[in-house]
Amino acid sequence: MNDGTHRIVIVGSGPAGLTAAIYAARAQLAPVVVEGIESGGQLLTTSDVENYPGFPEAITGPDLMDAMRKQALRFGTELIPEMVEKIDFLEKPFRIWTDGQKILTTRSIIIATGSSHKWLGLEAEVRLRGRGVSSCATCDGYFFRGKEVVVVGGGDTAMEEALFLSRLCSKVTIVHRRNQFRASKIMSDRVVMHSKISVIWDSVVNAIHGEAETTGVTGVETKNLVTGATETLECSGVFIAIGRNPNTKLFKGGLDIDRNGYLVTKPGTTNTSVEGVFACGEVQDNIYRQAVTSAASGAMAAMDAERWLEMCGYCG
Ligand code: NDP
Repeated sequence: MNDGTHRIVIVGSGPAGLTAAIYAARAQLAPVVVEGIESGGQLLTTSDVENYPGFPEAITGPDLMDAMRKQALRFGTELIPEMVEKIDFLEKPFRIWTDGQKILTTRSIIIATGSSHKWLGLEAEVRLRGRGVSSCATCDGYFFRGKEVVVVGGGDTAMEEALFLSRLCSKVTIVHRRNQFRASKIMSDRVVMHSKISVIWDSVVNAIHGEAETTGVTGVETKNLVTGATETLECSGVFIAIGRNPNTKLFKGGLDIDRNGYLVTKPGTTNTSVEGVFACGEVQDNIYRQAVTSAASGAMAAMDAERWLEMCGYCG
């Protein structure tokens, strides 16, 4: 726009944000994406993505995100590699402050900030992070070649981490708090049948042993939630894979957020509680949380925003 006001600013650059950018750019809305610390979101730390349609032989997470980024750029998206620090939702046009000292003004906003890793809350997770405690097997698994490791969690991420680690490590033990995995059957079956992976059911990790300066992680203490029995398990690495928290801190007080911390969108749309502000991907999705569903909701957000801009006469 001539006065420097953008029509769409997208916050976040995972599958939701970049798909919204592709759609908005193809609708000639010249979107701006504030990418965050690293462009690409969670998929940057995912190895093979086997369920994104169109890639029968799988594609790596970074390759998929690189392709989406190129596709967004091809149609005229502007990418800003900065973090958003503050948004004023009260006045229109909206104002967005970045950590690079930019103030963007915009008619509409699409929020696609995704979600972040959850931790158990043990002090040793902080003390020993990078010294045996990790949230990413793809990133850190290589350091544990030939060693014994523990994976905490029972979802698809835990299965994926365990399977990845089984290629490098001598033994992988999954500790899960129930007697049944939450993960999909295909992933659970692969894990249960794997000769290098064993499972400790109905149990939690209540301590991680080791010294940051010298030994790194040396083991974990598990507690059986049925019997109360504790057990010490020697290992060199602990991978925490217990899910994620939506990244909504920035929007507290500005937009409606549900009791689990997710942005509230009106059913069947991507509309948030403020007109002209849309949300897509894992920041508003506690159920599906897939790259393909995030991408799909990004497309919906761009279409909702386009319609809204059209209705307000801001599309020209
Ligand atoms: P999920 O929320 O699906 O699973 C989290 C797991 O961690 C659950 O088993 C949960 O236990 C356990 N857990 C949660 N909090 C604690 C805690 N404090 N202590 C111990 N255990 C805990 O998260 P994921 O990251 O695994 O998956 C997120 C989404 O991404 C899912 O929809 C999944 O299908 C998808 N995904 C798909 C992949 C693929 O298809 N290739 C790969 C990775 C993820 P409980 O079961 O008891 O609640």
